[in-house]
Amino acid sequence: MEAWSCAMAVSEPCQALTGAALRVLAMCRSQPGFHRKSKKREREMSYDVIARKWRPQTFGDVIGQTPVIRTLTNSIKAGRIHHSFIFAGLRGTGKTSTARILAKALNCKDGPTVTPCLKCVACDEITRGVDVDVFEIDAASNKGVDDIRDLKEIVKFPPIRDRYKIFIIDEAHMLSSHAFNALLKTIEEPPSYVVFILATTEVHKIPTTIRSRCQLFEFRHIPNREIEEQLKKIAETEKVVVEDGAFSLIVDAAEGSMRDAESLLDQVISFSGDKVKEDDVSTVLGIAGRRAHVQLLSAIAGSDAGAVIALLDELEDKNTDFLKFLVRFGSFLQEALHAVMRKDTDFFPEGFDSSRLSAEDMILYLNMLVQNEASAKFAFNARIAVELIVLKMVFSTHVVPLADLLSKKKSLKTESEPESASAHTVKQGKKNLKSAEITGSDKPKKQKLSPREVFDQACESFSHLRPFLSSADFTPSDSTLSIGFHQQIPRLIREEIEGEFRDRLGRDLARSEGHRVEISFSYFVDKEADSGQEKLKDHPLVKQVLDTFGGEVEAITDKEKI
Ligand SMILES: [Zn+2]
Repeated sequence: MEAWSCAMAVSEPCQALTGAALRVLAMCRSQPGFHRKSKKREREMSYDVIARKWRPQTFGDVIGQTPVIRTLTNSIKAGRIHHSFIFAGLRGTGKTSTARILAKALNCKDGPTVTPCLKCVACDEITRGVDVDVFEIDAASNKGVDDIRDLKEIVKFPPIRDRYKIFIIDEAHMLSSHAFNALLKTIEEPPSYVVFILATTEVHKIPTTIRSRCQLFEFRHIPNREIEEQLKKIAETEKVVVEDGAFSLIVDAAEGSMRDAESLLDQVISFSGDKVKEDDVSTVLGIAGRRAHVQLLSAIAGSDAGAVIALLDELEDKNTDFLKFLVRFGSFLQEALHAVMRKDTDFFPEGFDSSRLSAEDMILYLNMLVQNEASAKFAFNARIAVELIVLKMVFSTHVVPLADLLSKKKSLKTESEPESASAHTVKQGKKNLKSAEITGSDKPKKQKLSPREVFDQACESFSHLRPFLSSADFTPSDSTLSIGFHQQIPRLIREEIEGEFRDRLGRDLARSEGHRVEISFSYFVDKEADSGQEKLKDHPLVKQVLDTFGGEVEAITDKEKI
């Protein structure tokens, strides 16, 4: 506010005198509003040396924002320059840099041009942030309605020297709602010589009324590949040797922000000197590198819980951020899964036994990670949460693909069949008969099952009927199969055997034998035992139970047999 008050108080009579106006603006910049901004800039300069040195100066230098740059340059070429813009997007994606480049493009002595000369006074002063007609306002410290009123007063006067009077409002979402309302009219119908550029990381906080009067440009996250390419170019120019793994750690930590990536590179160079190793970056940034991911996967694949704990201890000693580690390990697992599916052994370092990893295992691990990641974020201790997830992976049973299981079963059957051909007999009452398959041919057909095997398979699907079925007589012939029971079968069980079980067995036999097989059931109950059991029905205790609960006796079975 004081900054704008100052500009107001002195700038009006100074419009005719360029030199005096420059002095006024110099005064303005020494006021609190500007002071705070310049302190911020000083901070950036003090440690963001690379970020400052490599700040894009032309549209061609801006990385990862092709759609924005193409639209801007096309509109400049066509002379269709809008009077107000919103540059929205993540921090460090080039919003303010692009705003300055646009200012240069408009105010360069050769302009408006898409290739500002970078040599004229306007270009030079805009680059240094001291141009008399380009106002960089930090909305965080000039957010009130009074500040905007002052700004509106400045807007009234044409530029002192340049073609356009340009207002770059940084962190524009910080303006108060009254300030936005005050700005509304100015933004809607500014004088032809005024251009507004509102830069913001939170475009949703800009009122719709303002947004609808501006051209909105969304600055996207810069793709990791492009950040890495730029970092490599910087490292080469700065004559610093950086390991590939180190680049990848920095790029991941920057999360799509070029400025963050450059600052991190600076930080790591300060730590390591002109040779930056992956381990150095890991130590400085508290992020585990690829080596740790490979070690962890190896320990999981080998079901080595001890190695997992030792590795996590080591990471804790290095002050690793476990949540970031978990996220990065997830990305690594995904890449490893792709490598396993592609059968790309080069993905893994030398000595790593990738044959222990199946795609099914990797999917299981990824699934466990995805399902537990959210709860890890809210855990009171991230190390414990991560340890739990990883140990679950260690102790999870290896998943065997169904196709492998089936082929194993087939090979087992093939191996056991010659033996079964000579020894496989079916108990049939007091007689032993060779199975129908064997009597039909000396050389058993590999795929065909004997009726008994078909029967046994059907029994597996009806495990609750097995106590009754396993002791039954079994008499197969070409087109019939007789099953005889020598015990009391409860009515419900009998219905199930003669219903669902018979259907299933009939289908399986027809498929196996190649023709329909009649199945019949017979029940031979030992009459002596039966008459003894019948007497039990007259037992007073049984009668009392029947009187109390109603119903009837369905079956009487020996307790020992149960
Ligand atoms: Zn120029």
